[in-house]
Amino acid sequence: MNEQKNIKPDSNTPPPAGGFGVKRIAIFGSTGSIGTQALEVIAANPTVFSAEVLTAHNNDELLVQQALKFNPNVVVIGDEKKYLKVKAALASTNIKVFTSEKALEEVAGMDCYDVMLAAIVGFAGLKPTLKAISNGKAIALANKETLVVAGDMVMRKAVENRVPIIPVDSEHSAIFQCLVGETRNKIEKVILTASGGPFLGRKPNYLVNVKREHALQHPNWTMGAKITIDSATLMNKGLEMIEAKWLFNLKPGQIQVVIHPQSIIHSMVQFEDGSIKAQLGLPDMKLPIQYAFGFPKRIANQFPRYDFKKINTLSFEEPDVKTFRNLGLAMEALNKGGNLPCIMNAANEIAVYAFLHNRINFLDMTDLIEKTMQNIPFIEKPTLEEYFESDGEARSFAADIISL
Ligand code: NAD
Ligand code: MG
Repeated sequence: MNEQKNIKPDSNTPPPAGGFGVKRIAIFGSTGSIGTQALEVIAANPTVFSAEVLTAHNNDELLVQQALKFNPNVVVIGDEKKYLKVKAALASTNIKVFTSEKALEEVAGMDCYDVMLAAIVGFAGLKPTLKAISNGKAIALANKETLVVAGDMVMRKAVENRVPIIPVDSEHSAIFQCLVGETRNKIEKVILTASGGPFLGRKPNYLVNVKREHALQHPNWTMGAKITIDSATLMNKGLEMIEAKWLFNLKPGQIQVVIHPQSIIHSMVQFEDGSIKAQLGLPDMKLPIQYAFGFPKRIANQFPRYDFKKINTLSFEEPDVKTFRNLGLAMEALNKGGNLPCIMNAANEIAVYAFLHNRINFLDMTDLIEKTMQNIPFIEKPTLEEYFESDGEARSFAADIISL
């Protein structure tokens, strides 16, 4: 059954704490690709949104610049060595400055915001997001790894705390938008579209020589380094299948991937009567970010529009899972469940890091992930602690292989 749990678009999203005034946004990962685009959305709508929390891992200069422009309540600089520098740069303001990984959680537990934009990359986003949920804050979720690692916990906690999780990932935002008004109708399946990345149509004999710079060139989207590599290997689509399972309470067999190189249809939902709804638009992450912030209202903007008179080919094809084996591994993790997606995610984070540092080649990433998935003990129903342990074990196993 496709019971749309806590995120059904027709559910009553709580109004912002300050009533119907300005919605106060906490941007976790404000210096990243999603974070900076979110700040553009806020800057364009100053009477609707404000930025109350900004966090960065180590880009102190951009964080300070953002803080001086948006005057948030709090900033967090992850890198403790940079704390004094940020503190000094903001000394003439009332902005509170915190540092360390622990501070991210503490700030997520504060009351100075209404909506958390979870835009930290990777496993590091999990703990602050869980904290925000138990603090009763609505989540605009960009950080898909959070759901890949511990989707069952995250969604359960969200239901318990009556917290809406509104997707920012463009495919999931598309599905979410297609589901508005469909609360009582069962989903037959969702169709996740994938651009195919820069190596669409290529075979292993080509991929073996692919270099970092080449893999970082995505044809349709400009994104952070990790997700750009995930898009080139198709791991991103695998992570998104798992993300869709948790967000929309789907069975693995209800999630299909279709390659659509133009990235105009952002994803589709097929209902029981065979009718298919799609959401279309030019590829621009500001749109799903703005939608998540404004939900259930749409906000007028001047973003470029898709013009049916100009681009006239929308094409579709099957993904090549034989060549892009990461997608197959992710499907295995999706089907098997338990701690396997968590293990896969950890190995993938290590693999992408190693590839970005020219330590392993493009195809080695898949071997590394596969070996890690085969070697870390499977747990069918892990506790949160066990997810953290599986993550740690998988990371050290994968890192050991690289340094052999
Ligand atoms: P990015 O690398 O550009 O930015 C990541 C942000 O997280 C930065 O602000 C960085 O300071 C912070 N960060 C990194 N490591 C951290 C750590 N260990 N602790 C605390 N903070 C840390 O990444 P991005 O492209 O903006 O992606 C962010 C998330 O959104 C990812 O999970 C990604 O999959 C997802 N997403 C991104 C896009 C996109 O277009 N960029 C689209 C869909 C989903
Ligand atoms: Mg996506």
